[in-house]
Amino acid sequence: MIRARWIVPVSSSPIANAWVRVSDGKITEVGSGKPSGDVLDLGDVALLPRLINSHTHLEFSDCQSPIGYPGIAFSEWIKLVIASRFASDPSQKVNNITLGSNELWNTGTVLAAEIATPPFDYTQVKSASEIITFAEVLGIEASRFEERLASATDHLEHHGVGGFSPHSPYSLSIEALGSVLEQAKAIGKPVAMHLAESPDERELLSTGRGQLSDLLKSMGLQPARHFPWSVNPFEHVIHLFSKLPQALLVHGNDLLDSEIEYLSHFSNISVVFCPRTHHFFGFSNHPVEKMLRAGIRVVLGTDSRASNPDLNLWHEVQFVLNHYQQIEPSKVLEMATLVPAGIFRGLLTRQDDLGQLAAGFSAQMGAVATSSDNVGQLYDDLSCNSYQNVVLG
Ligand SMILES: [Zn+2]
Repeated sequence: MIRARWIVPVSSSPIANAWVRVSDGKITEVGSGKPSGDVLDLGDVALLPRLINSHTHLEFSDCQSPIGYPGIAFSEWIKLVIASRFASDPSQKVNNITLGSNELWNTGTVLAAEIATPPFDYTQVKSASEIITFAEVLGIEASRFEERLASATDHLEHHGVGGFSPHSPYSLSIEALGSVLEQAKAIGKPVAMHLAESPDERELLSTGRGQLSDLLKSMGLQPARHFPWSVNPFEHVIHLFSKLPQALLVHGNDLLDSEIEYLSHFSNISVVFCPRTHHFFGFSNHPVEKMLRAGIRVVLGTDSRASNPDLNLWHEVQFVLNHYQQIEPSKVLEMATLVPAGIFRGLLTRQDDLGQLAAGFSAQMGAVATSSDNVGQLYDDLSCNSYQNVVLG
């Protein structure tokens, strides 16, 4: 029996002066008032479920600080990331991913959706957090795309239960994107794809010009052969996603109201919002509130240390609590726990009882200091105090 000043089940309202009964790693009961029997009293804290990070690239976890500088042009940043990946020692990859997975666990993340660059065997990483991998596919030119698709398909066959990650519409031709999504549909796998991350992406897809076009040319590619698309690019991708078992639309920073409205018709598509990465690039406010109002499922991710100073998902929760105050705090907590638990249930191999503190769910919890007497002050405390894993004996 564990008592705390507050329990935040997420699936229901916060409970003051509350307790949870735990047996065999599972919660058997949640209540309030004076508990009976042996009690471990954690005092002035709020207990919460462990966190779920819906977007990582752990291979960049050795970055001590983001690549580039705040406000860097998106295409400039991509150029630096490609150079950094090119210069990195492949033998360090297992160390980097291990570093990242340790950081995830130590900061409260129990489950992460990871973009994997195949070939890489994630069983080499002894990760306490469960990692679902989405195998990245990219390549503007057909030969590179075919090679990457074969590698990603091999990854899925041998190493994982996740899905494909067609990288983005600016790193694939429209035909290649269609074919990887067709393959995902054929084998019943979900996808995760960066979409509408920067205004430059819309410019490339709809006019064939702009900084991303210049970047592709500087890499010796011929963007004029593939861009602009002859259809509304983001509606086209959303239409393709709607045919899949499940799709994670990563970022969506630049989606227009009409595209958000269209997206809201498809309950199999969720948006991954990476708040501090969005902030790093200095993009204008994210339409997360509009998405939530339209009934779209939104979840939170850190993205990688190439655009974020750390992989602590609680810092993303706090960023949203502090910078998007029109969103109900309870909704913000759901985006890091309950909602992604629902999305990823069925893809998990270890445990699928995550995301809420309720009978039958995992007793893995975190604690945040609070001396609050009311729910408003409780959320204020959550917005500024750190999250610590509760370690049961
Ligand atoms: Zn990403």
